Amino acid sequence: PAAVIAIDGPSGSGKGTLCQKLAKQLAWHLLDSGALYRLTGLAAHRRGIALDNELAVAELAANLDVRFVPGEEGQPTRVLLDGDDVSAVLRTEETGSLASQVAVLAEVRAALLGRQRDFAQAPGLVADGRDMGTVVFPNAPLKIFLTASAEARAERRFKQLKDKGESVTLAALLEDIQARDKRDSERELAPLKPADDAIQLDSTALGIDEVFEQVLALAKK
Ligand code: C5P
Repeated sequence: PAAVIAIDGPSGSGKGTLCQKLAKQLAWHLLDSGALYRLTGLAAHRRGIALDNELAVAELAANLDVRFVPGEEGQPTRVLLDGDDVSAVLRTEETGSLASQVAVLAEVRAALLGRQRDFAQAPGLVADGRDMGTVVFPNAPLKIFLTASAEARAERRFKQLKDKGESVTLAALLEDIQARDKRDSERELAPLKPADDAIQLDSTALGIDEVFEQVLALAKK
């Protein structure tokens, strides 16, 4: 099996940026598992399937017609759902909320399991998510659990969304983040928690470049 670095943590911890930088530096594959949950939520929403219709949503998850198209020089990867470019809508708060609603369904998580494991290809995989180290890649030799204070995460998200022209307030984002943290860590299935053998890093004080250097050093050990 290919080498895997499992990186888990709450939204806004800097996980996404860290994983992209690592995958690029190592020239390894990248799994954005959150995108699969977002795509599932979005597909269900677009087809008018109720988000608590577990079997129908799982069926959809198992058969998602999705393509990740690497961007040209410096451009981000584009995501096509049923041939339709959904890259922008995928990252919105609304889609994040759809994702966390379908993520509580056991059959949906099971349907996405094999799909996620298929990303583990030579020379290696950087896996970004909530349960990479605990459920999807329990044997990964390197597991990182990246955290940051809710305030720091809300501020980062606020900047990102403002740059994209989305109108949100910092207070609303903080509330959202706290609600999602609670939902993600208290849910019965694959709750957000560090694997026993995960190394915990806090990006509140460190900054993402320092975190990157630390993880890169660990990866090269
Ligand atoms: O990481 P991202 O914000 O894209 O994830 C969206 C939602 O998908 C999370 O809030 C979480 O509920 C769910 N998710 C999950 N397991 C993963 C990745 C994401 O449950 N491995």
